[in-house]
Amino acid sequence: MTNIEQNTAAVRLRIQHSCHKAGRNSDAVTLLAVTKTVAPETIRQAIAAGQRDFGENYIAEGVEKITALAAETAQYGLRWHCIGPVQSNKTRLVAQYFDWVHTVDRLKIAERLNEQRPEGAKRLQVCIQVNIDNSPSKSGVAPDEVLALAQEIAKLPRLQLRGIMAIPDPMTDIAINNIAAQAIYTPAIAIFEHLNALNYQLDTLSIGMSADMEPAIQAGSTMVRVGTAIFGSRA
Ligand SMILES: *Cc1c(COP(=O)(O)O)cnc(C)c1O
Repeated sequence: MTNIEQNTAAVRLRIQHSCHKAGRNSDAVTLLAVTKTVAPETIRQAIAAGQRDFGENYIAEGVEKITALAAETAQYGLRWHCIGPVQSNKTRLVAQYFDWVHTVDRLKIAERLNEQRPEGAKRLQVCIQVNIDNSPSKSGVAPDEVLALAQEIAKLPRLQLRGIMAIPDPMTDIAINNIAAQAIYTPAIAIFEHLNALNYQLDTLSIGMSADMEPAIQAGSTMVRVGTAIFGSRA
């Protein structure tokens, strides 16, 4: 077994244990392998370990790897997730190359993605990124503006709204506010449940990374985004 195979197996075990502890099915949480700065050869090892969902932060870097791994993508049905900030001048690449985008936080970006999604392609799967800490430096829509954005995204025919994504700021949350890791996600959970009570039928709560996947799964995560625990620390 390669390191990547061992690491992937260890992360899957962590997910299973957390699901068990939370009283959830072990298949309730999808593992998204975050491959920023990771070379295609290394991604192939993760594919060999059974990994199918991959997340990229930088759009140009992601497009390069999606292109390099086109054969594997077709053979194994890989899914590519954009998890980094999307500027207007990058929406075309996202619409053309990715299957998912987790970081929609403005209607203008959603509209461009909808216009630029190629005809005949599967609908682009979308999460709204929520700024759960109200940290001014970070991307994400304010919690009280999510519903208005969701209403507009739901009208765009080439997008499919799947859920909510959040990146907690550990500096703000744990050091400054001294919030327990699990409670950090409370605003994201509340929005997710509110939208589903309004019949949005969302199934994706994209929360949890290498360091906090256990509390995120305890809080209700359905997709954890894991980089370092699989690929090692980034240069
Ligand atoms: C890098 C990154 C991750 C993965 O973080 P790790 O701590 O390496 O697991 C998850 N989500 C986003 C948005 C990231 O940028």
